[in-house]
Amino acid sequence: KLHNIVQETKGNIRVFCRCRPLSKAETSSGYKCVVDFDGANDGDIGIINGGPSKKTFKFDRVYTPKDDQAEVYTDASPLVTSVLDGYNVCIFAYGQTGTGKTFTMEGTERNRGVNYRTLEELFRIAEERKESVTYSISVSVLEVYNEQIRDLLATSPSSKKLEIKQAGEGSHHVPGIVEAKVESIDEVWDVLQTGSNARAVGSNNVNEHSSRSHCLLCIMVRAKNLVNGDCTRSKLWLVDLAGSERLGKTDAQGDRLKEAQNINKSLSALGDVISALASRSSHIPYRNSKLTHLLQDSLGGDSKALMFVQISPSDNDVSETLSSLNFASRVR
Ligand code: ADP
Ligand code: MG
Repeated sequence: KLHNIVQETKGNIRVFCRCRPLSKAETSSGYKCVVDFDGANDGDIGIINGGPSKKTFKFDRVYTPKDDQAEVYTDASPLVTSVLDGYNVCIFAYGQTGTGKTFTMEGTERNRGVNYRTLEELFRIAEERKESVTYSISVSVLEVYNEQIRDLLATSPSSKKLEIKQAGEGSHHVPGIVEAKVESIDEVWDVLQTGSNARAVGSNNVNEHSSRSHCLLCIMVRAKNLVNGDCTRSKLWLVDLAGSERLGKTDAQGDRLKEAQNINKSLSALGDVISALASRSSHIPYRNSKLTHLLQDSLGGDSKALMFVQISPSDNDVSETLSSLNFASRVR
């Protein structure tokens, strides 16, 4: 059933909304859930904003706090596996810090997320098809922080600035970046952890830093069809975006201000690109941020995209929640 939705959606972008559970800390501080999931099966999510007013948003899927990692992955699966058929694909997690972006994409050792499950399924299908197609899979892990690209799999820090180069029609790459070839799923978790751990290096607050940078996993698939000899290359980007929250008044200076401006710039550039694609505009402004420039090959054309908009259920976060849902409605 999802496959049909995937084919039919205009502009090739789907939006799934996921709400995390109320945390213990929120419950004990007396915060209440303001999210109404009554229409979740129909893709509707309601925000009760105090009083009788309720604002409803519609998405391709809505996940309640009870929906688990396997369920979320199942819906994304047809999209990610289309990379094996030569499509470029892009999946993002968007939302305020603390709403579960990293949980959805990376997950935890016990509750693995989209990134790991994707590779697991790619290896499984590659094995199934091995009589007719030979696949080779490699991964890169990058971070974009303050409009600078950092290679999270590099073993020694490079002083050279990483830049995006166009190699040919519809083919962008970052010369010098590590492309780690992965032979089997057993190697994957360690490689992903290496990337994730490198995010913290050189920053004094791990969580703060990761909420202010975009983390991108790029899965490159090379396929050789053993029957007709055709070779294809395709790319799947899995992106844990920087937190979308507005800057607090006290932070509106110095480094913090610069970070916030860069995040703002790249997230609005992403929104602009997606809405330009959806309206079939003749000019797609990919070059306005490093993020959209990197993802260019996997946004637009016949590539496929999915955005998870992550939200908090708490009445304490309602204005950020509304802002995220409005952003996501705009790209859909
Ligand atoms: P973000 O990356 O958006 O800042 P995190 O992924 O770090 O948010 O999530 C914040 C906290 O909430 C983490 O402790 C995470 O494990 C928990 N969490 C997020 N989503 C869920 C969920 N769907 N179910 C259970 N716990 C969740
Ligand atoms: Mg995170």
